[in-house]
Amino acid sequence: MTVPPMSMPKPMIVAIDGPAGSGKSTLARLLAARYGLAFLDTGLLYRAVARRLVDAGYRCDDPDAAVAAAGAITTADLESPHLRGEGIGNGASMVAAIPRLRAALLPVQRRLAAQGRGSVVAGRDIGSVVLPETPFKFFVTAGLEERARRRFEELRRRGEAPIFAQVMDELAERDRRDESRAIAPMAVAEGAIVVDTSAMDVKAALAAVVAEIERERVRETGSTITGQQP
Ligand code: C5P
Repeated sequence: MTVPPMSMPKPMIVAIDGPAGSGKSTLARLLAARYGLAFLDTGLLYRAVARRLVDAGYRCDDPDAAVAAAGAITTADLESPHLRGEGIGNGASMVAAIPRLRAALLPVQRRLAAQGRGSVVAGRDIGSVVLPETPFKFFVTAGLEERARRRFEELRRRGEAPIFAQVMDELAERDRRDESRAIAPMAVAEGAIVVDTSAMDVKAALAAVVAEIERERVRETGSTITGQQP
């Protein structure tokens, strides 16, 4: 008698795209905890590349140096406390416009996302380019001023002395670069649900996304996923 091979359940992938300060990372982290999935913040990959370039004295629009830096990224790079600032965010959005760099990071993101039970993946092009097959796609956004306010408070909590107008200008500049680049621009992916968190707290945003995931789950398989209550 032949024993049929045990089939592994398909990893669950939740794609969360959106601009800086929209609340997507907080939401992604909470969703990951709720469904027992990993949280993959793909912005860290672009930030780690920019960090390596800046530290080695290269420009952030140097394709050869960027591809070499991507190949050298380690877990320690991704855990560095020096990735978070808006300066590196801007550098990241410059390296992110390099097609060869995006091509190099694509298989890395797909491999990381599919590990274990699956992942909640945050970024700019997850639902459109990296993992377009997933049925769970969200574009989390908020008005520029509200996003700037959140970022301003975050910088203050970190002990920095930000200037509000400057924070807002930098976010607007990064949005412009991310939306207008020729390759994988930030955009609402086909089939993605837009969640505007301008007037929502984290709890409300999480509840809205969970409700959509459960609805989609019923549509797909006729069953619901039960996770911990937020
Ligand atoms: O999300 P975070 O602000 O850390 O991302 C930094 C920059 O990395 C973004 O402004 C964007 O240019 C780039 N990025 C991207 N695609 C992703 C994630 C981040 O282009 N999937």
